[in-house]
Amino acid sequence: MLKDSFNRHIRYLRLSITDVCNFKCNYCLPDGYQCTDKHQDLSAEEIKYLVAGFASLGLKKVRITGGEPSIRKDLVQIISDCKNTPGIEQVAITTNGYKLDKKVASWAEAGIDQINISIDSLSPDHFRLITGHDRLAEVLKGIEIARSLDIPVKINTVLLKQFNYGEFETFLDWIKHNDLTLRFIELMQTGDNKQFFEQNHIKGEDIRSQLLSQGWQRMIRDKAAGPAQEFQHPDYQGRLGLIMPYSKDFCDSCNRLRVSSQGKMHLCLFAEEGNDLRHYLQPETHHELPQVITSMLQGKKSAHALADGFSGATTHLAMLGG
Ligand code: SAM
Ligand code: SF4
Repeated sequence: MLKDSFNRHIRYLRLSITDVCNFKCNYCLPDGYQCTDKHQDLSAEEIKYLVAGFASLGLKKVRITGGEPSIRKDLVQIISDCKNTPGIEQVAITTNGYKLDKKVASWAEAGIDQINISIDSLSPDHFRLITGHDRLAEVLKGIEIARSLDIPVKINTVLLKQFNYGEFETFLDWIKHNDLTLRFIELMQTGDNKQFFEQNHIKGEDIRSQLLSQGWQRMIRDKAAGPAQEFQHPDYQGRLGLIMPYSKDFCDSCNRLRVSSQGKMHLCLFAEEGNDLRHYLQPETHHELPQVITSMLQGKKSAHALADGFSGATTHLAMLGG
């Protein structure tokens, strides 16, 4: 089992397969994707070596993310390769839901085990205002198709003071009679969004107090679980998750590593730099990869310094996948 120097077990890999995105979420890429330099994303072949290397160290789960992973033409191949890697038990994806209604059946066929879909508003107008796209109906239809295919779905919602906080109760109503997991994500400051952050950040602690006062109860956390605190309520069919990166012990349970679409391993979402793995994703060198990952991992710090406004090299989360 892969462990860092603070005895945290690394249980899953968040793998960005592109930093390109077609949406313009106002907290992430308000001006849309800007191509700054000519770089090449990891090929499907390199991804195969990468995932096999992590699997050989005991990792059982891969989450595919981006940018927007669904815009990669070979996504179905990548899902299938991850799923067929010996040792990998779970392949998940995080997506903005673009054309989900048309694509999800092929992902299911390739073996996807779980889908996280970002929805920041249940009002078509607000959805367009936040993402730059009038696609709420399409995303909701995609969710229904995914559920009809028995794929577990989680919804990610970043709460924003000026754009969707007024919909807090609408979101809760949505899961009252709907067996869905909805996760509220606390807005994070990145290199690019300082002013937006100051205007829109809502403290995770305040959201938590609000939920507890409304009768939501904390669920016991599974060791292999992601970063969310989970809550349930006797009157609600769905479950709530709360991702509070600014909370005091958030990093204590960190169980993941990240690799960017250019093959750089980031020891933290807010690390100062990525460590290049691409050299070890080739036919003649991939056998060295497990050793390289293990030794790089020893540089993982105990915690990020987000609360001091330090977001490392991360200018926006589309760079790395959130
Ligand atoms: N494009 C895909 C999507 O939006 O789901 C995957 C990549 S996106 C960077 C992954 C997650 O990060 C999304 O749920 C998004 O809402 C969230 N995210 C992006 N920027 C964020 C920020 N500054 N603070 C909190 N969450 C953020
Ligand atoms: Fe794109 Fe996801 Fe960022 Fe929105 S949050 S701009 S969909 S990468």
